[in-house]
Amino acid sequence: MPEQHYSFFQSVTRSFDKAAKFTKWDPGILEQIKACNAVYQMRFPVKMNDGRIEVIEAYRVQHSQHKTPCKGGIRFSDEVNQDEVMALAALMTYKCAIVNVPFGGGKGGIKINPKNYAPYELEKITRRYTAELVKKNFIGPGIDVPAPDYGTGAREMAWIVDTYASLKPGEIDAAGCVTGKPVSQGGVRGRTEATGLGVFYGIREVCDMKDVMDKLGLSTGIAGKRVVVQGLGNVGYHSAKFFREAGAKVIAIAEYEGAIVNEEGINEEDLFQFRKSTGSIVGFPGSTALSKNSDALELECDILIPAALENVINGENAPRVKAKIIGEAANGPLTPEADDVFAQKGTLVVPDMYLNAGGVTVSYFEWLKNLSHVRYGRMEKRFTENMNNTLLGQVETMTGKTVGSKERAIIVHGPDEVDLVYSGLEETMITATREIMDLWKSNPDIPDMRTAAYVVAINKVGTSYAELGIFP
Ligand code: GLU
Repeated sequence: MPEQHYSFFQSVTRSFDKAAKFTKWDPGILEQIKACNAVYQMRFPVKMNDGRIEVIEAYRVQHSQHKTPCKGGIRFSDEVNQDEVMALAALMTYKCAIVNVPFGGGKGGIKINPKNYAPYELEKITRRYTAELVKKNFIGPGIDVPAPDYGTGAREMAWIVDTYASLKPGEIDAAGCVTGKPVSQGGVRGRTEATGLGVFYGIREVCDMKDVMDKLGLSTGIAGKRVVVQGLGNVGYHSAKFFREAGAKVIAIAEYEGAIVNEEGINEEDLFQFRKSTGSIVGFPGSTALSKNSDALELECDILIPAALENVINGENAPRVKAKIIGEAANGPLTPEADDVFAQKGTLVVPDMYLNAGGVTVSYFEWLKNLSHVRYGRMEKRFTENMNNTLLGQVETMTGKTVGSKERAIIVHGPDEVDLVYSGLEETMITATREIMDLWKSNPDIPDMRTAAYVVAINKVGTSYAELGIFP
């Protein structure tokens, strides 16, 4: 069957329509939920280090304002185009709704390959982009709050907040104009690893559901599961780390220069260092290389984690994918044809717009921290420790026994910022997983988990629109 070509936004729309059939919303409301509210396409000149002037193409899309601010990352990639940014912005709306993060969806993109630019050139591009957003009122803690995405990180977010704050002197909540900042610039501890950790919490919850595992012919739990990760960027690296730490075996990792396999398990940190010094994952001690990096997607394994870019699994290669569970750490790694193949095969696809929501969830915590101007744990850490110490002392006096020093440290410990962030993320991912699975189980006609996730999202956004009414 020839592969039908859908643009990324059309794929998202197709998945939306598939799910909308299982809801009861007025067609007008559904139309409004689907549409991108505002698309800002811009061009601006930047002088490069060699004196040349380059005209940069960039975007910011605000998909929905049913809740404000809009929220979503900014990617730097050669592949950026309007359709892609629109699709990613739409996914952000649904993602935020599913994990109960009170934002509308947004996304930004700059069409550059960051590897081709010197740091000072990237800084100029980022600052100019921010200034363009300020000019059109497309950024601000109550308007639209960018974050890292493919090709960007804390460094770029620091440039954004600095540019914004200098253009808006005296704006007391300026730090909340962007998330994913370095901790020294108002960032929150735990944001860097948040997406990977969320992927792990989500899959762990699914793997703890006995009925779901029975259907797949798998035992419950993460320990011993064989995992393949595509992408060793921030999300892939941290997903691999948390799976390994929980006792899973990461048997293969793929990057754009190749893919490697080691049935004994791969340590992502050692591999990361190896790649840093040699420029490639290929040749990593103890591993064998596959002839094509895409071969990794087709390996025999329990869990496949595509953590790179969109459309990597399509109608052509999906029939050869042997994983029992596919955890979409990237945004849009499967095409609609791939979804159909997996629904038929009985492969469980855990969908992107909920599974990779850890990033935006912790961004929400960062934004709240910026608005409250106080670090998490600052008020209660000592209080809790003193209280726990007193309680433990009383128990020891009454029992005549003393607790060992290791246990004492655990019992007495008051929460640090990172403890609270992890705990908030864990709670968010567990709740979202159960909500989607319960809905899916209650309606056996829903073909897959992605459709169930969309139904949850559509119902939440639909409720918002219905309750808001439509402004005359
Ligand atoms: N870029 C990430 C995503 O696609 C994070 C967005 C955010 O933190 O706002 O979900």
